[in-house]
Amino acid sequence: MSAPRPSTDAESAPLLRHDDEDEDAQEEPTFFTKLADIADQPLTTLSKILFAICLFLLLLTSIFIGLFAGAEHKLNNAPKPSNPVSTTTDIVTTTTTATLPAPTPDPREQVCTSTQCIILAASILSSIDTSFDPCEDFYKYTTNGWLKSHPIPSDKGSYGNFEDVQLGNEAIIKGILEAPIPKDIGTYDRQTLKKVKGLYQECLDESKLDKVGMAPLLDVIRVVRGLYNGSNSIDPQAYVQGQAPLSGPTANGLTAAIAYMHSRDIGALFNFDIEGDIGNDPDKMTLWFWQPDLGLPSKEYYEEEDISETYRKALEELLFIVFDEKKPSSYGLRWPPMPWPPWPGGENDDSKPENSTVRAKRLSKEVLKFETKIARASQDLDELFDPIGSYNPMPFANLTANLTQIKFPEYISTFAPRVFPTQVIVTYPPYVSSLSQILESAESEVVEAYLIARVALSLSSLLGQETKAWKVVRELREVLGGLKKGAVPDRAEYCAKQVSDTMGYATGRFFVEKAFGGDSKAKAGKLISNVIDAFKESLPKLSWMDTNSSTAASEKASAIEVKVGYPMYPDTESAFSIWNYYQWLDPATKGFFGTVFYQGTIDQMRKWQKLGKARNHLAWEMYASTVNAYFNPPAQEIVFPAGIMRPPWYSVEWPGYLNYGGMGAIAAHELTHAFDSAGRMFNQKGKLEEWWTNSTSEKFNVIQKCISKQYSSYTIDDGKGNQIPVNGELTSGENIADQGLINSFRAWKTQYDSAYDNGTEYLLPGLNYTREQLFFISFGRTWARNMRPASAVQRIRTDPHSPTQFRVDGTLSDIPEFAKAFNCSAKAKLNPPPEKQCRLWS
Ligand SMILES: [Zn+2]
Repeated sequence: MSAPRPSTDAESAPLLRHDDEDEDAQEEPTFFTKLADIADQPLTTLSKILFAICLFLLLLTSIFIGLFAGAEHKLNNAPKPSNPVSTTTDIVTTTTTATLPAPTPDPREQVCTSTQCIILAASILSSIDTSFDPCEDFYKYTTNGWLKSHPIPSDKGSYGNFEDVQLGNEAIIKGILEAPIPKDIGTYDRQTLKKVKGLYQECLDESKLDKVGMAPLLDVIRVVRGLYNGSNSIDPQAYVQGQAPLSGPTANGLTAAIAYMHSRDIGALFNFDIEGDIGNDPDKMTLWFWQPDLGLPSKEYYEEEDISETYRKALEELLFIVFDEKKPSSYGLRWPPMPWPPWPGGENDDSKPENSTVRAKRLSKEVLKFETKIARASQDLDELFDPIGSYNPMPFANLTANLTQIKFPEYISTFAPRVFPTQVIVTYPPYVSSLSQILESAESEVVEAYLIARVALSLSSLLGQETKAWKVVRELREVLGGLKKGAVPDRAEYCAKQVSDTMGYATGRFFVEKAFGGDSKAKAGKLISNVIDAFKESLPKLSWMDTNSSTAASEKASAIEVKVGYPMYPDTESAFSIWNYYQWLDPATKGFFGTVFYQGTIDQMRKWQKLGKARNHLAWEMYASTVNAYFNPPAQEIVFPAGIMRPPWYSVEWPGYLNYGGMGAIAAHELTHAFDSAGRMFNQKGKLEEWWTNSTSEKFNVIQKCISKQYSSYTIDDGKGNQIPVNGELTSGENIADQGLINSFRAWKTQYDSAYDNGTEYLLPGLNYTREQLFFISFGRTWARNMRPASAVQRIRTDPHSPTQFRVDGTLSDIPEFAKAFNCSAKAKLNPPPEKQCRLWS
């Protein structure tokens, strides 16, 4: 399994985009000069409360200095925090009743009393809920204040710090999109800005979108149907220009239709990806064959009557829209209108034509059956994440021979006319023959209806909100995520996100310029390298790892490439490079739908251009503004976009214990992925190879099983009175990576003395905790997330990450330093006896 594993779990995980060149680095004299200031912190939703707290705290500042200057400085003292202490009222009580020990001033101690420090302290306190026992439910202890003050917006399935910061990042981008183009910027930036602003305006222009209606979608469907029925074909040379002119009939309509859809980034039947050949040369980009994305989020949903019936109804409505269409549209007449109706028989059929309503209903049932077969033939996700099991190289001819319904030579020539692959890596070989049988037994019109449904489900969200197709797809999403019925997302917020998703390298450049300047990159890089050093130093002390294996692990950790901030391909620092990357886009003429659709085509083309070439190590799989991070096994790289190097994870101005508990934990998580159940199977060059001794592997497996069992015992409520267990196997790699937290703790300790002397371990006013406790509080609070039950169920089935409460409590119950920091009793839930712990890194 070669796909990178993001550390987190954004609602829709960002997928790939790539490619480019350079020129005018000197054109931007003010680039990367601004610090991420306090105004950019994700505190806006709390600002009113915080400023009230802030004013109050300012009055009490002098008292705080006296009280806390001496009481909190020692690294190793560990009072269990008194209850309650978190709210403003409680702080007042604490200070005025003088129940704390008398101050013992230490001339070395530093308490920051600036306005920024008071706001920061207030934001931490406002997240904490001391009515919970930190040793029993640390997640709730550190997050419940936040959870209570951040209800889930009615149009969303979940809302947590990741979503909050992502919205904050998009608000920064929105500000750029809405501001006039600065007079003093260079030509390339000016042109790029025009394009992103143009796309934003096209998206915002709802009356235009509603006027255009469903025509753009119906145009695409018309092309697919035309190709499927043999009345059209794709000219590979025209594909780059986003056109599909006629060039004679193809031998196989299904091949032409599927090639067209895949080239437009619309998934169906199967997927190809281009990644390294992890069994031979991880840097040689090779063809991978994957099972497809499904209409429902995962295969389990097809077995549930109520959900599958909801889905079927959505299919019926979408098909009805298409069957009921009376006249060809005049929108974007890129493709000549097809004969109508273009299905076999069509107008020449002597029998009485079937009414559109009846036909849509009948075919929706058939499409659901067809897709259910595909779902059942697909591999389970936990198995798919096994890098050995999913690595099945074979001659390409095997694919051609076993899936004869697709004419692969024609298909491939659409994407890679000059490099015909001789080999393909099939992630789950049984799927190939299953798909062949499913297609063999399917009626032609059912396959056609399935293709139509795939197109409609993929593209309808790009239409105006008044269109029937948009509403049908939105309603389906509402049911699947448990969203409030009819709650429409804020249009400006939606459009800023669409622009970021479509032109993310461009918005990333402007985002970085605004919010990731100064020494952010260098300082975050230092923090990450300290975590790597701590990991390496810990290896010889791990009881399950012998000397040979720990030496090899240390070498692998040293070899991992660390990328911080923003992509260099296209080069975020170069206005020309970014301009060049998007030079083909023209929102003013293509409109919103056309631009997003066209960019999908370009992304596919760039993906296929990598085939047979060496890996481009400058490329990233996330944008600069993304709130996430990832480890890519074949590339052996850990990558941290600027988007996540923000509060509550990181700030260049924060004390070390907060940064190591936040950003350090993310760094440790990604690094540890290189040694988790899947990552450990890759050697330091990213190749599949057993590089541990047998005894080390065996001992690792025992602890891994322990961790799987531990997480499988956790359950979530499905909102219908049932407890759904976490899949300990699916989440194994992520849980192991989360436990890497201990190495951020160690890294923080190692640098503590010198950081203290440099004044970067200063204390904050009003926080009655040791620095160790604050390290863990900093970690815990980042995982705050409210989630609707339906969304939680969807996550548990599809997400390799455990629900956030277990990412906190599950992780900490295996790290004894946590229980020690909070003086947890021997009976405390998060302080289990050693024989009940699953300690891999601690
Ligand atoms: Zn991860």
